[in-house]
Amino acid sequence: MTRTVYVNGDYLPEGEAKVSVFDRGFLMADGVYEVTSVLGGRLIDFDGHAARLDRSLTELGMTMPMAAEDLRGIHRELVARNGVEDGMVYLQITRGAPADRDFAYPPQDTPQTVVLFTQNKPGLADSPAARTGIRVISIDDRRWGRRDIKTVQLLYPSMGKMMAKAAGADDAWMVEDGHVTEGTSNNAYIVAGGTIVTRDLGDHILSGITRAAVLRFAREAQMKVEERAFTIAEAQAADEAFITSASTFVMPVVAIDGAPIGDGTPGPVARRLREIYFEESRKAAS
Ligand code: PLP
Repeated sequence: MTRTVYVNGDYLPEGEAKVSVFDRGFLMADGVYEVTSVLGGRLIDFDGHAARLDRSLTELGMTMPMAAEDLRGIHRELVARNGVEDGMVYLQITRGAPADRDFAYPPQDTPQTVVLFTQNKPGLADSPAARTGIRVISIDDRRWGRRDIKTVQLLYPSMGKMMAKAAGADDAWMVEDGHVTEGTSNNAYIVAGGTIVTRDLGDHILSGITRAAVLRFAREAQMKVEERAFTIAEAQAADEAFITSASTFVMPVVAIDGAPIGDGTPGPVARRLREIYFEESRKAAS
């Protein structure tokens, strides 16, 4: 089946979809994106993703191209047309395609480029990695200073994933001024003495939609949560570690820079949070 994608108002076979070579997303990484997971054909936490999209756009002097409800409708239409049971919907909005390349922003009335496509991932919620846990390495955080905006400039995170691969690991946690910021495409957590610790929000990390949900569920389950900086040494000495993101949900981390975390297997807090996350987010899916 040929995948149907959405470009600026049209649903098209992926081979027919086109974006200008002058698009500022292509030339300047001048755009933002969201990834919403799909489980059982329904969108997980769409409202959270729409709210963060609005914020990312506002921070860059752009606006929502349409009402959030209309965006939800396009998400649903693509999920239906492509028969996605489990997978994700990728959405990207750029500052559009002015007539020429120029560092200055184009006039405010330049039409934005709005692209959406689906990725089919059968069995997404039952990934084997969740049973074994993943291994991470630590790398310097060399990204720009506005990581709270979900921009499409993902070169350093891509480099980080390649560094992890080269080291025989699955992913990388980034470290700035001696403290972990986040994973290349996920938020990072440790569990020590029964307390869940994750980096506090600010412009140094992305405010994960999964992070917000997981912390809310953890607090509702009377688990202790601290939002603060931690070091790699503290993480290596912790009882457990895990990551969260829209595509991995809650994923246990079993080694950091080759040092096993706890007994080197997924810990009970991460496993429980993963269960609660699926239970609650499936209930609220749209
Ligand atoms: N941090 C970074 C740098 C990310 O790229 C992502 C997701 O892509 C996350 C955190 C997790 O965010 P979410 O839970 O909204 O997927």
